[in-house]
This record gives sequence, structure tokens and C-alpha cells, in this order.
Amino acid sequence: MTDRNQQLFERAQRHIPGGVNSPVRAFRSVGGTPCFFASGSGSRVMDVNGKSYLDYVGSWGPLILGHAHPEVIAAVQESAAKGLSFGAPTELEIEMADLLCKLLPSMDMVRLVNSGTEATMSAIRLARGYTGRDVLIKFEGCYHGHSDSLLVKAGSGLLTFGNPNSGGVPADLAQHTLVLDYNDDIQVERAFAHYGERIAAVIVEPVAGNMNLVAPRPEFLQSLRTLCTQHGSVLIFDEVMTGFRVGPACAQGLYSIRPDLTTLGKVIGGGMPLAAFGGKREIMEQIAPLGPVYQAGTLSGNPVAVAAGLATLKLIQKPGFFVDLERKTDALCEGLNATAVNNGVAFSAQPVGGMFGLYFRAHWPRNFKEIMQCNKEAFNRFFHAMLDAGHYFAPSAYEAGFVSAAHSDADIAETIDAAETIFKNW
Ligand SMILES: *Cc1c(COP(=O)(O)O)cnc(C)c1O
Repeated sequence: MTDRNQQLFERAQRHIPGGVNSPVRAFRSVGGTPCFFASGSGSRVMDVNGKSYLDYVGSWGPLILGHAHPEVIAAVQESAAKGLSFGAPTELEIEMADLLCKLLPSMDMVRLVNSGTEATMSAIRLARGYTGRDVLIKFEGCYHGHSDSLLVKAGSGLLTFGNPNSGGVPADLAQHTLVLDYNDDIQVERAFAHYGERIAAVIVEPVAGNMNLVAPRPEFLQSLRTLCTQHGSVLIFDEVMTGFRVGPACAQGLYSIRPDLTTLGKVIGGGMPLAAFGGKREIMEQIAPLGPVYQAGTLSGNPVAVAAGLATLKLIQKPGFFVDLERKTDALCEGLNATAVNNGVAFSAQPVGGMFGLYFRAHWPRNFKEIMQCNKEAFNRFFHAMLDAGHYFAPSAYEAGFVSAAHSDADIAETIDAAETIFKNW
């Protein structure tokens, strides 16, 4: 049998760096050949060899309704037939802005952009412009897109400024960013005591989903809110992943915290390139053309992307949507935990709303250091065994997983059974 995945991967590498347009797709972390997908429907994706998988990646979060939901596809087709882009305002953008501001009490105004990276980069510029300050606090293991100020690792000491963790990032830029430990409010208090007057913003994933999944201690998020208010700094919740994924009012609704600015992406585009940043009116009014902070985009608010996003957001507001999604995600994690315990495997799984973490250690981690204590080789073995059995998880031990509304109880049971078979022979 010819392996089309292998053939395409070899061909892809000739003119595409690493054969992929985003690095984690390359399977470098787990080894092996990436799956090239040909189609998706509901909870399943099909690769170019014709093999079908239950999908727990969902395009890295956006596909909360599963693949090719008929109402989303119809909205895209209808919008596309009227023209792909105008570079001028359209009515759909107002509908999207009104809906986002209705669903999120923290949001008075919102601007649409094309990617999460753009949203976070612009939110940080806005926070700096609004406060007239430069310093940014972020947390180790949180990912906020790939703009220069954010590709930063911790400095040598607790309160020393960061260093670039990517080639091509000027050290000067990293030197405005403090990288602290997730869930450690004492550290944040010390940073504010030391640098309070200089801190423009704190940016945080309110549930961390880019170092595997780390849930926040509610007191941690609350202390960020209190300290930012005390010091006149802007609290940015990066909800590109958690937005309309962990609940109907995002993580800020789940934990009852009102950030000053919120970034959104992934689910709000329903699988199309759409993201947003928004928040308090007095901050958002600093953005051009109202204010001095520049931000723009040729394709921003693209009507086809907005149509897909609106169709998605309308469907997930149906009563009981998140109750059902959460029930299935909980069932998956409980089933996996039970089979791990029965077979003596050092493993645990944790759900938050429609996302989950898988850890090859017995307890749920609380920060990046504890994530690094997970057994990566065990994850890689599990990943490949599940892939062979037709269950597609993220190809890295440092990513969260996603359940969609299209996953049936039978799908979840099938995945738990597959894991049971693997853990029995562990
Ligand atoms: C995915 C993600 C981003 C980046 O979004 P892109 O659309 O990939 O640029 C930023 N922040 C968080 C929390 C994310 O999960």
C-alpha cells in the first residue's frame, strides 16, 4: 500500500519549511510522519490514506461544533457568494461586535482581526499606549501568539527581566517582559511591589492551554485583578483558546473576574481566520481612528470569516450546550483516569469546560515546572498507540485537547476502550 501521508510529507518539505505552516503540526515532539487530512465530518477526520480518526484536536480548538457543521458551511457559502472581501465596513461585523459585547460584560467595544497573535499583540500595544508604561508581566508556559514581546523566557532571577526564547527577537524587547510562575500570586505581588509604577499590563491565559492544560487557582486570578486595579495596570485575559470553549461567558464568566481587555480567536471564527480584542470603552477609545494607538488590517472583519463565526456563536448559545459539552469532556477524563488507576499507570486527565489535559503523572499539575515533570516518553508512546487505533490527539505532550458537540457518548466510550487496551499492556 502506498503511504500518501509519507509521500506528501516528503513533497511538502521541498518548498515549505519543515513541510508545515505551523511548527507543532510537524510531529517533531512525538516523532513520525504528520497526518495530512483530506476531510472532516462531525467528530471524525479522514487522512489522505483513507484512515478515519476520532478527532480531539478540532483544528486546535476552533471546531467546537465538530467538522463541517451544515449550518456553518451554509453561512460561509451564502456569504462567499456575495463577495469575499470589501475592505469597507459590512453589517455582519456590527452583528458580531454586538453579540460579543452582549455575551461578555467586560467588553464595551471590540475590534476584529485575523489571528490570535494579532489580537494579543494589539492588546499589548493598546495597554502600553493607554498607560504610558512599557513593562509587561506574563507567565511561564502561557502562549500568547508569536509577536516579539511575547517570545520571552524567564530571566536569571525572579524579578529580572526576560530573554528572547526565539531567534530574531531583539533582547531589548524581551527586557520589557517579566516572566513569572503560573498560579503564584506571591510572586506577582512582589513584582508589583518592585515595579508597580512601570507595569503596563499583566497578560494571562485564565486557563492555561498551551503547556498542556493547567487550571488556575481562583485566588490567583483574583489577585491579578486586585493588583492591576491597585496599580493602574491593564489586566488582559488571553481567551483566544478559552473563549466560548470553557463556558458561555468564557473563563472570565467561569471564575467571575472582569478583565480590562480580552483577546478572542479560535471558536469565534468557527474554523475561519478570525480573532478579536476588546474591553473597557476608555481603553478601546485609544485605538485609531479614535485615538493615537495604531492598529489596522486589510482583511480584518472579513465577511466570510465573520459569517462562520456568527453561525458558530449562535449555535453554542442554545440552552444546555455547555452542560452537554462539559458532561462529555468529564466522562472522557473520568474514563481515562479510571482505566489508568485499574492498570497502575501513572496518568491523570483533567477537564475544564470543553477542553482537557492528559498528564503522565499521578496528579494534576499547577504550573510549568510540574508540567515538565510529566513523562514525555510515556505520552509519545500513548499518542502513537492511540493514533494507530484511530484516535487523534494533539501531537505533543504540551497541548490541551478538545471535545466537540459532535462527539457522541459512543465516541467517548470508544476512545476510553482504546486507552484501556493500551494501558492493559503498558
Ligand atoms: C492559539 C492561541 C494564540 C495565537 O492565536 P493564532 O491564531 O494561532 O495566532 C494566542 N493565545 C492563546 C491563548 C492561544 O491559544
